[in-house]
Amino acid sequence: MSKEQKDKDIPGSDEATGGSTDESTKGGSLIDATDFLTALLSQQLQVSDKPPPEKLLDELTIEGENPEPFFTLARELWPGEFKPTPCHYFIRMLHDKGLLLRQYTQNIDSLEINAGLDPDKIVEAHGTFRTSHCRKCREMYDQDWMKKTIFSGGIPTCEKDNCDGVVKPDIVFFGESLPHRFLECVEKDFEKCDLLIILGTSLVVHPFASIVNRVPETTPRLYINLEKTGVISDPIMSMIFGSGFKFDQEDNYRDVFWEGTCDDGCYHLADEVGWGKELRKLVEAEHKKLDAKFAKEKAELAKENSKQKQETGGKL
Ligand SMILES: [Zn+2]
Repeated sequence: MSKEQKDKDIPGSDEATGGSTDESTKGGSLIDATDFLTALLSQQLQVSDKPPPEKLLDELTIEGENPEPFFTLARELWPGEFKPTPCHYFIRMLHDKGLLLRQYTQNIDSLEINAGLDPDKIVEAHGTFRTSHCRKCREMYDQDWMKKTIFSGGIPTCEKDNCDGVVKPDIVFFGESLPHRFLECVEKDFEKCDLLIILGTSLVVHPFASIVNRVPETTPRLYINLEKTGVISDPIMSMIFGSGFKFDQEDNYRDVFWEGTCDDGCYHLADEVGWGKELRKLVEAEHKKLDAKFAKEKAELAKENSKQKQETGGKL
């Protein structure tokens, strides 16, 4: 696919279009941070209207202010309970073959990592559940610690001496700035990219909507999505953010649109380059492993719960 085997770049999928969520594969639920938090607050605050973004930020980031809503839904939506879908394994496959420069994602579900992709190959623009930090002293905690703490019903609190800060997963809240790593990687990656694949995003949220214009003008851009978006017709917008895709324009020489889900698109692409069988085999084998892992975790949790019940004489 490329003379330089590593110059590939795959921005990630986005839930706005259903992304790679494919019911037939029991695909992972791809959760956008803002939607997730808005839903959470609406539910927990028992209000019918969505709270305004400022309220969202206040509720979730100010120390000491009712952190329970966040962790209640975090329990329900814990990313480890979801399975990566074929497109996540396709991205891993690109890396295994030495073709992936970087994957950029707006999702916070870490499904790429669950699919076995090297964390160094991912830029999680909206953060991740994999790591957490104390909001007072910035001490870092890992996913296992967080999972254990919130699933035993507690509010995660810093364990360092003389610190009682709430520990929260490193997801980027609405209104917070993007991780430094995002800006750093965009700066050096995009000029090296020799094939840009954009998967399942409506390309309306900046900076993702505009970074597609940062690749060299000779770089082909493949856009796999349920609908054709990303064509900027407004001259002022195009001066600010670049001209976007040129799919149906006469002077298009590099933009390709493939209509469909991310999973179907990735299978199709894999078939075209002769990796179809290998990808299907990988998905099947990895899903089997995850089924076994989830079953084991469930059994351990049930055991733990019944132990706790016995210890408290069933008074929980
Ligand atoms: Zn602390």
